[in-house]
Amino acid sequence: MNIILLGAPGAGKGTQASKIKQRYNLLHISTGDIFRANIKKGTEIGKLAKSFMDAGKLVPDEVTCEIVRDRLTWDDVKGGYMLDGFPRNLFQAKELDKFAEIDLCLNIAVDEGLLTDRICGRRVCACGESYHVSTLNGVTTCAKCGGKLYQRADDNPETVKSRLDTYNTQTAPLIDYYMSQGKLKTVDGGTGAPDDIFAQIINILE
Ligand code: ADP
Ligand code: ZN
Repeated sequence: MNIILLGAPGAGKGTQASKIKQRYNLLHISTGDIFRANIKKGTEIGKLAKSFMDAGKLVPDEVTCEIVRDRLTWDDVKGGYMLDGFPRNLFQAKELDKFAEIDLCLNIAVDEGLLTDRICGRRVCACGESYHVSTLNGVTTCAKCGGKLYQRADDNPETVKSRLDTYNTQTAPLIDYYMSQGKLKTVDGGTGAPDDIFAQIINILE
């Protein structure tokens, strides 16, 4: 099964992706993670992506679509995958339809008022896990792998405002796009613990 995870920044796409991966063994493909890895390695793509990410804007479609198109030619996608952070606008969604078969778009809906605090309080680990300062109780390492937690460069109040704006104007229209394809399922990502939200997802997947 091939799934798209849709949702605003801070909606919990990464958190749920990690749970889905554990239970269903689907490959997790995150364009944000791919860009961050490129920035770390200092590649040309990384240099280009950084300026857009720091501004809370979308990395240009030609670059992003090509990365995903290429990634979906690898052998490891054959057992099914989740796309996290792609597509992020209508152009990308239409491109994706040309090179992929998507079964389901899981929309994680969260009230906008909750997102800024979630994002600015987020601490992440290089292994992909993320936490919120309010539940860490001062712990600075990852419960899963022991890695050192850090804050993403774009998880600051100024960039978040712009990311939410980008989501509302460019990404939210995808809800209608996948609804009209009959592929949209929405879960309430704003109430309950991550495991309660995951329970809704299990319901949909089984
Ligand atoms: P979040 O969902 O919390 O905003 P991501 O890691 O998905 O975090 O994305 C971080 C940034 O990476 C985005 O703000 C954007 O600049 C860039 N990015 C990620 N995916 C895409 C995409 N599909 N198209 C364009 N830019 C993207
Ligand atoms: Zn970790």
